[in-house]
Amino acid sequence: MNKNSKKNNDIFKGIMFVVSAPSGGGKTTLCKRVLKIVPNLVFSISMTTRSARKGEKNGKDYFFLSENDFGQKIKQEKLSEWAMVHGYYYGTPKDFLEEYLSAGNNVISDIDVQGGLRIKKKYPLNSVLIFIMPPSMKILEKRLRERKKDDEKTIKRRLENARKELKEIKKYDYLIINDNIEEATEHLKNIIISEQMRIRNFYLKNTLNNFLNYNLK
Ligand code: 5GP
Repeated sequence: MNKNSKKNNDIFKGIMFVVSAPSGGGKTTLCKRVLKIVPNLVFSISMTTRSARKGEKNGKDYFFLSENDFGQKIKQEKLSEWAMVHGYYYGTPKDFLEEYLSAGNNVISDIDVQGGLRIKKKYPLNSVLIFIMPPSMKILEKRLRERKKDDEKTIKRRLENARKELKEIKKYDYLIINDNIEEATEHLKNIIISEQMRIRNFYLKNTLNNFLNYNLK
């Protein structure tokens, strides 16, 4: 165990659930649904240099930053991880995440595979990586076309990216095949609940002390 992970072990009590999926994989809907039904779970709002899409709000969907300001956040070590995705910078605000994890709360975030692997490295005892895939590449392609957000070139790039991300899947902890949104939500909920019941988690939270320190009369 390296010095950092020992320190993490001492400080962080909650779990960061990273949800990654190719565009069109359905992760945003899934995160929203699970946040409504799982208690003690908050969403980590990322920072990005891309501009807001129609209907997106600063501080709700993302914190929208200039490249300059994002560079400052990196320099000041204000991000737990950051990555360049589809030509823009994205990152996880560190203060928010660590404050919640230290207090024993659980956090869910929708971040790409590079970011997920960095989170795992930084918080090895406090992170769970979940990959979401549609049932097949063919269905992924169909979903990308049906949402009519992207041109042909972008669709091809997103499919290529999906294939690349899939190659990293063995470093992830779970895979959910998102065939049916109700079932996929149930699977994600079950993973979150089960992870909270790991013995390791009870040690992190010191909740076993009540039992261990009980004095028999
Ligand atoms: P979009 O711009 O479509 O909302 O997201 C594009 C990609 O950026 C998605 O794959 C999403 O998971 C990823 N992403 C969003 N926030 C973060 C973040 O904080 N860190 C990293 N590494 N990726 C992120």
